[in-house]
Amino acid sequence: MSVYNFAAGPAMLPTSVIQQIKGDLPSFNGSGMSVMEISHRSDLFEKIIAEAKTNLLNLLNLSDDYEVLFLQGGATTQFAAIPMNIAKTKHIGLVDTGHWAVRAQEEAQKAGIKVDTIASSKIDHYHDIPKVIKPQETLDYVHLTTNNTIEGTSYKTLPELNEPLVLDVSSNFLAQNYLFKNVDVIYGGAQKNLGIAGLTIVVIRKDLITKNDLPSMWNYQILAKKNSMLNTPPVFAIYTANLVLRWLKDLGGVLEIEKRNLQKSNLVYDFLNNSKLFTNPVKKDSRSLTNIIFSTGNDELDKKFIVEAEENDLLNLKGHRLVGGMRASLYNAMPYEGAKALVEFLEKFEKENRGIN
Ligand SMILES: *Cc1c(COP(=O)(O)O)cnc(C)c1O
Repeated sequence: MSVYNFAAGPAMLPTSVIQQIKGDLPSFNGSGMSVMEISHRSDLFEKIIAEAKTNLLNLLNLSDDYEVLFLQGGATTQFAAIPMNIAKTKHIGLVDTGHWAVRAQEEAQKAGIKVDTIASSKIDHYHDIPKVIKPQETLDYVHLTTNNTIEGTSYKTLPELNEPLVLDVSSNFLAQNYLFKNVDVIYGGAQKNLGIAGLTIVVIRKDLITKNDLPSMWNYQILAKKNSMLNTPPVFAIYTANLVLRWLKDLGGVLEIEKRNLQKSNLVYDFLNNSKLFTNPVKKDSRSLTNIIFSTGNDELDKKFIVEAEENDLLNLKGHRLVGGMRASLYNAMPYEGAKALVEFLEKFEKENRGIN
């Protein structure tokens, strides 16, 4: 069965990674055990986690001034864990780009952190990316969501501020090439671009990992010292992430995948720009490479589109419930052929339904 899965997360994996998992499954590296059954204290797993760490730092073009933590609890847990660990004066800034940025703010506040919104595009219904303004006061850092999964926007380059940045890259992790200058933390769940649910990756400047009194599972110093194995880590998810990282390295790294992501998203945006039926509300220079939102402006027609797309093996195109319409997520693993099949179906649907709207 051949389908294209446009889900926002959990999302599709590269076909070759699925094949590798299938091959490895009965007996990982000749051990006679599947990778799901091996001990996290074994040599077999130590090798996996070490390779994943190296691959990730290489792909991000970061030195070993940075530590990689393999954690659980999703990006949502990190909304609070990051400020609890590194916000020395408990006062941070936030760029309000939409739903996930607001969630990051709420969770930090629950942890007793003061959060200043230093820029927001709420007034524009988050259809663009706010220009980041210099904070009025000294802040521990500024939190920025590089790609807004629900609103379909993203930063092409990172803003330069006096304060360091903390980046939620959940939905464009290793999908776009960023220059990480003055960045304290890069974090995200694995289930969108890096594998499967159950793994959250935190890349953090080592000198920020200092002794503190937080409970162990929240405490970066303890987690780092234990090499992310204070308790049982999600072995299978880390193994899968490492296969995805290898795949990305072998195909040429982030510059190459960014090129491909641009080709895919340009194909869809070019169609939308010229369509008489479908529209995309996002300002052109703020459009996401990985999450493309669109609609006909007619709920019934949108529903019909989603149903007929499914019948044509184009799956999970329903938009997020907060914004409605449709959303096509074109993460790293989506091949160009998937974007092409989508555009061909969009064209066909437009021809058949133009009179209706
Ligand atoms: C999906 C998503 C989250 C939430 O991630 P979980 O891993 O489910 O907690 C946070 N931020 C962004 C930008 C997302 O896309």
